[in-house]
Amino acid sequence: MNFENVKQYIKEAGLPNFRIKQVQEALFKKGISSWDEATNLPADLRENLKENTPLLCFKVSQIICSKKDKVAKALLTLHDGLQIETVLLKPQDSWSVCISSQVGCAMHCSFCSTGKMGFKRDLTQEEITDQVLMWYQYIHKEKLGERIGSVVFMGMGEPLLNYLNVVRAARELSSADFLNIGARHISISTSGIADKLHKLAVDLPQANLALSLHNADNDERSKLMPVNRKFDLEDLKKALEEYIAMTGRQVFLEYAVIENVNSRPEHIRKLADWIYSIKDNYLLHVNLIACNLGRGEKTEDRVVKEFAAGLKAMGIGVTIRKSMGNDILAACGQLASQKR
Ligand code: SF4
Repeated sequence: MNFENVKQYIKEAGLPNFRIKQVQEALFKKGISSWDEATNLPADLRENLKENTPLLCFKVSQIICSKKDKVAKALLTLHDGLQIETVLLKPQDSWSVCISSQVGCAMHCSFCSTGKMGFKRDLTQEEITDQVLMWYQYIHKEKLGERIGSVVFMGMGEPLLNYLNVVRAARELSSADFLNIGARHISISTSGIADKLHKLAVDLPQANLALSLHNADNDERSKLMPVNRKFDLEDLKKALEEYIAMTGRQVFLEYAVIENVNSRPEHIRKLADWIYSIKDNYLLHVNLIACNLGRGEKTEDRVVKEFAAGLKAMGIGVTIRKSMGNDILAACGQLASQKR
């Protein structure tokens, strides 16, 4: 949904400005899934909008819901036939949407299904924001109650390598004219594109930053995440110090615990040492998750709890995040890569 096109269309048709407000209300308050449902608009305008401005810029090919958790995953087919995925989940009281920023990913993280697909292309701003709009429509259609409280750029792709479209999409999502999602409820995750953090602090100072760390040993991290050969832990440290000085915001360090790979006591020690080497490290918080290995398997909870206890004992702020939707391949790229 390119809302600018809708506004333009209404202006060019010589219609009064209040029609724009009515369209906004239908799209972003009622959550209509088809223009026919926009009963607050005159019939001829509804028909014209139906012909000229599709509600979503992609086809929803499949939605599957978890039987265990409040999680749904959608497979979307773009205009060129490529596919992406997005996830709706309810970890706490409100819905959260996890969105993709690219088709595939060039970063080749060894534990990630999307990384194995390789990079196809960047998503447009509209393809990014429509993932959230699609779930907004779904929530209304299925009468699931609450609004979308947060959006995380943690789906397919490296957001900071599609920088402009991601920043524009985040701004649009938080705009009062669009879905009005608070800027502080939008999170950008990066595998560690250190040279973009300065710009991000300028362009989206209110957004949350999550750095996928997964290992605090340079050699081991390079094996897990090849991006570490370009931006190593020293580069990340400097970039984080600058980012924190500029924004004063808390930064989340994501750590997917993989048994016998990054879960041993020396990994805890190295992670704590690295965190303590960073200025203003009280603003760093570690989020641990049991690595989702696909086909419903994941690292045992016991291993994650021991890792968390080790970090806590060293004075590091840590939370264990619930891993949701294992039964529907909800980890990034698992569905799209299986469909290929
Ligand atoms: S984890 Fe993220 S950055 Fe790494 S390959 Fe997967 S999608 Fe790309």
